[in-house]
Amino acid sequence: MIRLGCIADDFTGATDLANNLVRAGMRTVQTFGVPKGAAAIKGMDAVVVALKSRTTPPEDAVAQSLHALEWLREQGAAQIYFKYCSTFDSTARGNIGPVAEALMDALGVDFTIATPAFPDNQRTVFKGYLFVGDVLLSESGMRDHPLTPMTDANLVRVLRAQSRRPVGLVDYRTVAAGAPAIRARIDALRKDGIGLAIVDAVSNDDLLRLGEAARDLPLVTGGSGLAIGLPANFGLQPSAAAQRLPAAGGARAIVSGSCSQATLRQVRHYIHAGGAALAVDPTRWEQGQILDEVQRALEWARPRLAQGPVLIYSSAAPDAVRRAQESLGADRAGALVEDALARIAHGLVQAGVRQMIVAGGETSGACVQAMGLTQLQIGAQIDPGIPWCYGKGADPSVPSLHVALKSGNFGADNFYVRAFSLLAAAAVPRDALHDGSRAGKGE
Ligand code: ADP
Repeated sequence: MIRLGCIADDFTGATDLANNLVRAGMRTVQTFGVPKGAAAIKGMDAVVVALKSRTTPPEDAVAQSLHALEWLREQGAAQIYFKYCSTFDSTARGNIGPVAEALMDALGVDFTIATPAFPDNQRTVFKGYLFVGDVLLSESGMRDHPLTPMTDANLVRVLRAQSRRPVGLVDYRTVAAGAPAIRARIDALRKDGIGLAIVDAVSNDDLLRLGEAARDLPLVTGGSGLAIGLPANFGLQPSAAAQRLPAAGGARAIVSGSCSQATLRQVRHYIHAGGAALAVDPTRWEQGQILDEVQRALEWARPRLAQGPVLIYSSAAPDAVRRAQESLGADRAGALVEDALARIAHGLVQAGVRQMIVAGGETSGACVQAMGLTQLQIGAQIDPGIPWCYGKGADPSVPSLHVALKSGNFGADNFYVRAFSLLAAAAVPRDALHDGSRAGKGE
């Protein structure tokens, strides 16, 4: 039986939440969509179901979320957490309000909180207004977001426009006064017929007090910051055990499709440190040549795997990316590279790789799918926001392996080198974790 069941409205946001839960003491698994068959969640405290529902039509987001809720309740979840972005990313029609209310209806509850604040990430809420760093949400870059432009920083107003129920506020003074004061304010709001309340939080202490006050709410909603105060309600404290993954073995590889500045620095650092690396260049690819390129890359990698990590990268500086986009078209260049790197990732696993770093958000999505992984157990953080994970597929023939999925601009320059040494240092016998998967080649 799991304790906390989470529904996240996008994939990277799900990992962000899972990472916070693990750091606060919960053993956590993230699944890609609602698991079709049995999921390996034995011994887990929390499951985060990652959906792609942030910008879909509200009806679709509601249907996906209710499906996830049903599955999480079947797993015994005692409390449900609807996770959205800490910048409250939503369209004029939703989907935060519609999904929150559909979950309330399904759970038969008349009240929930809405708390996007994540002070560690410079997201604070004061008198209902959301700040990104030092500026209001509506003055931040989110104002020009292509899919979810946020032009009003007053979240009470934003949520009101998306909800049938009246929306209220639990303000910073109440939050600062502690959990009993927050509970009293919630009771008062409920008596007034308020269904949803934005909650101010400007510090982690605020989130911890709020977490304590939210102990008896069957449903909470928020960014990933709210997660830091919930595990204590279940008697859980930060611990090494929550972060423990099965022992790592097998060969090591990095597949790098991100062209972000941090990734380019990481590629350079790895090569300067003497790591084996192969660049793949989409401008050289003619129609139908992809499979030859994949073959060539795998033939290069195989004999090197026994010696240490290999890096295969398409990561390139802006002018090279521009050239590729001019010759192939931007969408086609991106799709071509993702397809090639996903096939390479799959081929590397076939060749015995069991520890893999994938760089790039889109690249990670394509590679995880090609490797057949449907769930990730979240382990210790390598750099902020990037944990090592242990990925498994629904199909038992899919090899389980350690993966680190790195968003483009995340990670220090030495990330590719440091990540593998951290994993080696965190070794724990597989038996201790009841893990039945077979060891990879080269272990
Ligand atoms: P990030 O997290 O840095 O944004 P993504 O993987 O999400 O990285 O996006 C990078 C995109 O650029 C992907 O679609 C990838 O296929 C594409 N890409 C990678 N290398 C090249 C290249 N050399 N030329 C053109 N496009 C590329």
